[in-house]
Amino acid sequence: MSTEFHLRPPVLPGRQDESYWLQSTAGLETKQCPALAGSATADLAIVGGGLTGLWTALRVLEKDPSLNVVVLEAGTCGAGASGRNGGQVHSWFESLDRLAAVTDADEALRLAQASADAINELEALQDSGEVDMDLRLDGWLWTASSTAQEGAWQEALNLCAANGVSPYRVLDAEEIRQRTGSDASYQGVVEDRAGSLHPGKLMRNLKMHALRKGVTIYENTPVTTIAAGRPATLTTPGGSLSAGNVLLATNAWASSVPELRQKMYVVDSQVIATEPIPDRLDELGWKSGEAVCDAQNQVLYYQRTPDGRVIFGRGSGGTIFGDRLGATQNRHPRWVADSVAEFRRVYPTLSDVRIDYDWLGAIDCVPAHVPIFGNLKGQDNLFYAIGWNGTGLAQIPACSRIIASMILKTDDVWGRSKLINQQQAKSLPPEPVRFLGAHMVRAALVRKNALEIRNRRPDLMTRALVALMPKGTSEHD
Ligand SMILES: Cc1cc2nc3c(=O)[nH]c(=O)nc-3n(C[C@H](O)[C@H](O)[C@H](O)COP(=O)(O)OP(=O)(O)OC[C@H]3O[C@@H](n4cnc5c(N)ncnc54)[C@H](O)[C@@H]3O)c2cc1C
Repeated sequence: MSTEFHLRPPVLPGRQDESYWLQSTAGLETKQCPALAGSATADLAIVGGGLTGLWTALRVLEKDPSLNVVVLEAGTCGAGASGRNGGQVHSWFESLDRLAAVTDADEALRLAQASADAINELEALQDSGEVDMDLRLDGWLWTASSTAQEGAWQEALNLCAANGVSPYRVLDAEEIRQRTGSDASYQGVVEDRAGSLHPGKLMRNLKMHALRKGVTIYENTPVTTIAAGRPATLTTPGGSLSAGNVLLATNAWASSVPELRQKMYVVDSQVIATEPIPDRLDELGWKSGEAVCDAQNQVLYYQRTPDGRVIFGRGSGGTIFGDRLGATQNRHPRWVADSVAEFRRVYPTLSDVRIDYDWLGAIDCVPAHVPIFGNLKGQDNLFYAIGWNGTGLAQIPACSRIIASMILKTDDVWGRSKLINQQQAKSLPPEPVRFLGAHMVRAALVRKNALEIRNRRPDLMTRALVALMPKGTSEHD
């Protein structure tokens, strides 16, 4: 009997629960792709039409345009994290230490450089008119808003200097205040070749770009089962697809495969969008497209949209029993008050401003904080890509070269990446230990954060519990 993998497709949000990004670009949809009906074949089937799915499809076709590459998306492309994120675009130089821990110093530098190149590629795609995404390379500010956060970037700065690169420039309190319109953060660095974009525009236009490049996309097509074999057979409500190779590009939803659930855990991140207040932001001095984040464990990340809304996100760190993602990972009132309180702390003069949208997104974390690519045990044509840990806009176009080489078994610098089939990747404990442990640690984390933000020192027990937290629970975005 052949091995079957059962997937738990996402619970899709109603239109009113979608992100501001998707709601504000609903009219941009120039082509709704059909759902799969009946039987079809593919050289490569990609489950998931987010950044990982679409970028990998594009890279595979760049390498071999003769292949029949099919993307199967449960909702519409961008329904997951890719259409809900904070729109912060920055390179991987901030993660040189984590990348080197899993690969080596040379590969870490190559990956960081590849992510910086990906930012140039995004800019070229926008400038050519091919993929409009409101990309504004006005800088990524990585800042401290309490004493506990001061110097969070120092290790990255040291490693960059040791490697002879200097993507960051140190900022003083005055420049941060002038560029963000807030004095909550008073220390930091800026990556100048970085900034912000509109994830809704990016995803809708990247989909059209992929279609023009020859990718076949089926939307409203949740994959429920993958029967291993050559070819593998993917079952959907309306049909089935036989595919030579399969890539699971399902982000947090990959946790429905037991082997992958051992490697990953899922946390939420929460975002709010204010009403448009361009004049008031101009008055504060916040006029451009900087992406700003701080360095607390429940990281804050924010940008001003071109039409003057504030997009303000916060890592809630909320964990989910058995990683069973449901409707509460689309939108949940529980976290909104927290995010609004933090928004008002950072922008006290905007406390009367209306919040027009709020939404949640699930983040696929792995303990080492850098993604893992590989094939399912004993299945050399069933691949996965997990562990983006809350970044991706520049990292995914860079790493999709690795994923494409892995699938096509290309013996090149990407196909030899040490991110593939990481032997040292830690296994996480099973339920209920995992949930109870995560719950306790999260409670301590929230306590620690709340005290540190007020420059108070947490007690010993709280600090000890937080120290148990796997790396990766604090994200930059
Ligand atoms: C709130 C939030 C804020 C973030 N902020 C930033 C940021 O500012 N900057 C940054 O670089 N990164 C950010 N990230 C991270 C970034 O968005 C992700 O790493 C990236 O989008 C992951 O892309 P993906 O394609 O792997 O996943 P997704 O975009 O989640 O795509 C997975 C897709 O798979 C589909 N799917 C799942 N199961 C099935 C199935 N069985 N059948 C068919 N389809 C299925 C889903 O519908 C979904 O569309 C943020 C993430 C979140 C959640």
